[in-house]
Amino acid sequence: MAVTVYEGGCLCGQIRFRATGPVGWPHTCSCRMCQRHSGALTLAWAEFPRDRVQWTGPGGAPATWRSSDKSSRAFCPTCGSTLGAIDDGPVVALVIGSFDAPNRKALAPVGHSYVSRRPRWWHVAIGDTPGA
Ligand SMILES: [Zn+2]
Ligand SMILES: [Zn+2]
Repeated sequence: MAVTVYEGGCLCGQIRFRATGPVGWPHTCSCRMCQRHSGALTLAWAEFPRDRVQWTGPGGAPATWRSSDKSSRAFCPTCGSTLGAIDDGPVVALVIGSFDAPNRKALAPVGHSYVSRRPRWWHVAIGDTPGA
């Protein structure tokens, strides 16, 4: 069976990743931490086991900032792009906006975390309900 490869990276190209599928729990999140981390009102995430993610760009692994007692946020130290979250557990979550081909079906979110934290005027189709 062919292995599905997902590649992506930051705005400047210093940090690149190569992840192999299957994709775990693609979802959107509108928590305040995601909002502050990215400046976006909602982030879209795809999860991979740590051993299926390689950092392949000239800058190597991304810079990290310890954001909770179990996870660090990852970003490019050169251009500042948001790249993901590296958990202490075996999971690396990558933001779907950094993928080279975000329009792949396997990346379509199946849930929306912290939907109540998005502004009322901001709507995301998945998990969103009018007036929520
Ligand atoms: Zn960069
Ligand atoms: Zn979040």
